Amino acid sequence: SNLTKHFSIPHGLLGRGEHTVRAVDDVSFALEHGQTLALVGESGCGKTTLVRMLLRLLDPTSGNVEVEGKDINTMSKSELRHFRTNVQAVFQDPWASLSPRMRVFDIVAETLVVNDNLSKGELTRRVDEALIAVGLRPEQANYYPHEFSGGQRQRIAIASAIIARPKLIILDEPVSALDVSIRSQIMNLFKDLQQDVGCSYVVVAHDLGTTRFMADRIAVMYLGKLVEIGPTDQMFDDPRHPYTQALLSAALPLRVDNPHEAIVLRGDVPSPVNPPSGCPFHPRCQSVIGDICKTTEPKLRELESPEHRMSCHLGSEL
Ligand code: SF4
Repeated sequence: SNLTKHFSIPHGLLGRGEHTVRAVDDVSFALEHGQTLALVGESGCGKTTLVRMLLRLLDPTSGNVEVEGKDINTMSKSELRHFRTNVQAVFQDPWASLSPRMRVFDIVAETLVVNDNLSKGELTRRVDEALIAVGLRPEQANYYPHEFSGGQRQRIAIASAIIARPKLIILDEPVSALDVSIRSQIMNLFKDLQQDVGCSYVVVAHDLGTTRFMADRIAVMYLGKLVEIGPTDQMFDDPRHPYTQALLSAALPLRVDNPHEAIVLRGDVPSPVNPPSGCPFHPRCQSVIGDICKTTEPKLRELESPEHRMSCHLGSEL
């Protein structure tokens, strides 16, 4: 709710005076059990800062994150242990996220070793189960990460994320470092695991195309703000925010069933240190409707249903 993270940049790094980077600005959303929400937007839009706050790796400047009604930033030690078991993450680069000196068994078992007091036999049974679930063989638990391909290493990272049967898994660009040929295998694996384990996902991606397959809802971020959020089909069939329309046209440029014309965004994302006045998207927007876009920041408002919201003045003109 109202999640905000501002970073101060010390005097001297960007000229005189202290500067503030508004990495995430007043973002609110809810995620139901067993559902998948995709966070999309260009690099620097605040997705990574947002998920770091969801994982309690970063404290918000204001606002809060609640998991099953509990604020994660005021949890007791035992609640926090429960949280660390229940909320897991799989990151972009399977190589960087696996310790090269640990055997696969120790990597996959780590969450259970830290949080549960299981016998060696039970631990082995759970590791075997997790490896089989991600399409690896139990005997591969004795190998080291460098003995696997990139796709297999991502499977190891997924096994280590699911072994404690978490309720929420954050997938931070989970397939973008993998060969195109194995991306769909891994995405299918996530879908199958969701049915088996019943977990929820927050998927971080930089384009809409790769998320269509997985997400029930899509949230689009721009310069630290949520600019549109809605059910996946509505976002694809009838994207309403000009930025979503541009992202969508870039994601599906050559498809015959793409009803949207290619939209080329002008210029780069402005600096979050000194964001544009009014609507932060106005310097790049192809649909500016007048001075209101330059002077007044649009608020997130409901469209045809409470599930579909966007922050744009289009359609709200008096
Ligand atoms: Fe474009 Fe104006 Fe809407 Fe911003 S508020 S996205 S500038 S039309």
